[in-house]
Amino acid sequence: MPKYHIWTIGCQMNKAESDRLGSLFEQQGYQATVTAEEADLIVLNSCVVRQSAENRAVGKLRALKPLKQANPNLTVALTGCLVDSNEAQLRKAFPYVDHFFKPGEIPRWLQGTQTTRQTHSTSSGQAQETQDSPVSAYLPIIQGCDNFCSYCIVPYRRGRERSRPVAELVQEARELVKHGASEITLVGQNVDSYGHDLADKPELADLLEEFNGIEGLARLRFLTNHPKDMTERLIEAVASLDKVCEQFYVPVQSGDNDILKLMRRDYTVERYRQLIDEIRHQVPDAAISTDVIVGFPSETEAQFQHTYDLLAELRFDTVHVAAYSPRAGTIAARELEDDVPAAEKSRRLALIEKLQTDIASEINARLLRKTVEILVEGRKKGKWQGRTRSGKLVFFSDSGNWRGQLVKIRIEKTSPWSLQGKIIEETTK
Ligand code: SF4
Repeated sequence: MPKYHIWTIGCQMNKAESDRLGSLFEQQGYQATVTAEEADLIVLNSCVVRQSAENRAVGKLRALKPLKQANPNLTVALTGCLVDSNEAQLRKAFPYVDHFFKPGEIPRWLQGTQTTRQTHSTSSGQAQETQDSPVSAYLPIIQGCDNFCSYCIVPYRRGRERSRPVAELVQEARELVKHGASEITLVGQNVDSYGHDLADKPELADLLEEFNGIEGLARLRFLTNHPKDMTERLIEAVASLDKVCEQFYVPVQSGDNDILKLMRRDYTVERYRQLIDEIRHQVPDAAISTDVIVGFPSETEAQFQHTYDLLAELRFDTVHVAAYSPRAGTIAARELEDDVPAAEKSRRLALIEKLQTDIASEINARLLRKTVEILVEGRKKGKWQGRTRSGKLVFFSDSGNWRGQLVKIRIEKTSPWSLQGKIIEETTK
């Protein structure tokens, strides 16, 4: 059987697209492999949001050259945000890459790969490690972004928003469930915009209702939300639909209105605070995650303090914090001077990390000696791992095979990042 290997870097959209490509390869008769060396088909799914991510993708691409030289039958493909309208340049720089395709595209060359590749499949006869289909799968529901936040390269690389039709998504979700997925996360750069470009204008809440009826599916999640577009109806859907997990990912980026304006985020701190209040009112157990950028151009100490105070007040479950770095081609890189010194950015970043570590410690400590239900995704370093409905990572040790099962765990140890416990019982899906 021919083998494929997908290397992914970047956001959940990339992860989702890699899952989707993986399913497609499997339908074509391929089997997943952990290492690139064993594969007949290698796909790199790249990211350019940060220069470091772009550098890593380019480094990985270069490392594939000797593999291709040693095995001309190997197929190498590049996708993700590195593939823009610059295909000619990429072809010149990486002549050993067979295919380039834009994020979200299903390449035409995929049709018929099975026959071609089976001819060239490896014949080493050795047992090779393969990957299982995911218990928790990602499903891209909307591509691109119309927002043009001033620091972000995504709209330039991924283009305008394009929603996928409900029927196509439901069909794909059923396939994922058939292949072992019990949990599906609907992803998009801005899932709140879902459907506005489709004829019958379905909303994300409609999609969640459809998915909630899929037999065999135990849990549903969605990300990423934009605070300006999130609706009350969506929050109500989370509160009322039994499979939709109590988890929200709502990036705030800054706690200062002037900085939000420079970021072109189109909401105020006051509006954001109302939104979080509404979520907590409707879904009292909701876990809420956010993103923050520190050291944005012209951010003063007082403006940074506004962000710090907002995070201390709203007490998120998770905060992803990044120090601002200009990305060529964005509005901020063109128009705003990157004037906060690197050392100051690092200081601000460390302050937020420390604050959030303390908050997450306290939030997670409340689960000590409580029983939580988790969906077991697999094993890591000799332990089973899974997540609660609120997205908390839980580890436990047991000799049974719990992959794909919903189990009850009594929590015996907590940390800011994960929980550990003992299995109590298996629950039914
Ligand atoms: S909403 Fe803003 S930050 Fe998110 S992808 Fe779109 S432009 Fe980028």
